[in-house]
Amino acid sequence: MKTLLGLKTKELEQIALSLGLDAYRGRQLAQWMYRKRVTSFEAMTDLGKDTRERLLQTYAINPLKEKRVHQHQDGTAKYLFELEDGECIETVKIPHGDWETICVSTQLGCPIGCTFCASGLDYGRNLTAAEIIGQVLLSRGDTSTNVVFMGIGEPFLNRKELFRSLKILNGEVGIGARHLTVSTIGIVEGIENLAHLGMEVNLGISLHAPQDELRRRLIKTHLSRLRDILKAADLYFQKTGRRISFEYVMLSGVNDLLKHATHLGRLLKSFDFKCHVNLIPYNETDSGYSSSSPARIRAFQQCLEELGINVTVRQERGKGIQAACGQLRRQHLEGKIPS
Ligand code: SF4
Repeated sequence: MKTLLGLKTKELEQIALSLGLDAYRGRQLAQWMYRKRVTSFEAMTDLGKDTRERLLQTYAINPLKEKRVHQHQDGTAKYLFELEDGECIETVKIPHGDWETICVSTQLGCPIGCTFCASGLDYGRNLTAAEIIGQVLLSRGDTSTNVVFMGIGEPFLNRKELFRSLKILNGEVGIGARHLTVSTIGIVEGIENLAHLGMEVNLGISLHAPQDELRRRLIKTHLSRLRDILKAADLYFQKTGRRISFEYVMLSGVNDLLKHATHLGRLLKSFDFKCHVNLIPYNETDSGYSSSSPARIRAFQQCLEELGINVTVRQERGKGIQAACGQLRRQHLEGKIPS
């Protein structure tokens, strides 16, 4: 079966024509899939029985099946979706007031190998645009939605499907570019490509260390020099005017000392971009790292602020539902979650 999700309206019109239907049937398909979020042809009531049957013979809509949802009392929900090949991926939804943020995966496992992450180096393949968009459509509620490409995988190692997903989420699903965020470990070429895509999406860069040497200890592969990453961030800011977010996971005794904060602040100040640092309390796994104490995080934040950097500390959400990146999927792989 071929999947229709991940196709733009123009491409759906071509499919309609190839089946001997009028082109406007393609536009109807797009409306049903992306705006009304239906998951079966039977629900497309204005298509006519014949048309629906013809579509059903060759095409499917969403390649994802919901396998598990873990709901936390703070409202955070973690989804485990099964793909057509039987593999599983994770999606997290975090509600906040009239908004929700959906954190999508872009790869099956992740080839980057951050030493503090449950997904590191457990890599299978890239996800298709249909599998990425499907996560949003199946987990979305009725509130306004932000989508962050911050789940399992490095989005810029799956650039073609990432860019297609961004275009469809924006143009077809109707999520504003400023409500889409791509988060990367710092793939320079990917940042440059995104700068030229012509969409003002938000860019997040996971720094985790203010010096190359320490960064090499934390992140095993696909490493670029910090200066090159920040130069690419500067290009992104010049092209889009969007403030850059830098993510920094706080690991006790590893990267959370005042000397690290001072280095980081001075490094960021040496560029022209507007930026913001997001300190992330570590969600402990069995990686051997532990989270910095609240007092250490506050001191780190204060040091950066004194150097003139905007800083926030990410609120911890979803504790107790394996909310650290890749934990739910890992438990599934280890057979700790019954099918
Ligand atoms: S933290 Fe992100 S980039 Fe690093 S291994 Fe985990 S999923 Fe990959």
